Amino acid sequence: MNAKKSSRQLAVELLERSSYGVQMAAVLSDGHGNFAWGWNYPSADGMTVHAEQYAVSRANPKRLTGARMTVAGRRKKSGNWVYSRPCEQKCLPLLRALGIAEIEFINKEGDWELQRLDWVRVPLEAGRPKAAVAAPLARRLLTGRVR
Ligand SMILES: [Zn+2]
Repeated sequence: MNAKKSSRQLAVELLERSSYGVQMAAVLSDGHGNFAWGWNYPSADGMTVHAEQYAVSRANPKRLTGARMTVAGRRKKSGNWVYSRPCEQKCLPLLRALGIAEIEFINKEGDWELQRLDWVRVPLEAGRPKAAVAAPLARRLLTGRVR
């Protein structure tokens, strides 16, 4: 893995790390390159940790604000792409709260779609989520203690 590789290529390469029938992978990047990545995996309590959650949990929180999240997904057996937009239930609220500026994701046709995100402003700092807020928030979201 290196920081210079295209985020899309890295996301696709990471898919093989997922043990699920629907394999998902997510890469965080900014102007300096890729800085965190993850894939979906079963947590100890039997829940699924989404690829986006895993990537965020491994990231330097100072780099999250304004970053891009790239997500790929495919079916393990068939190799078919799946519509990989981060889910409305967990991941999009998390990404918005952390100040992720853009998402890009692969669709069923294998094309990439790019969307700007509206940030939900985390209280404490006018405008932008502070790094000091982002990491604990990500952990709370990961453990399901915040909706
Ligand atoms: Zn999700």
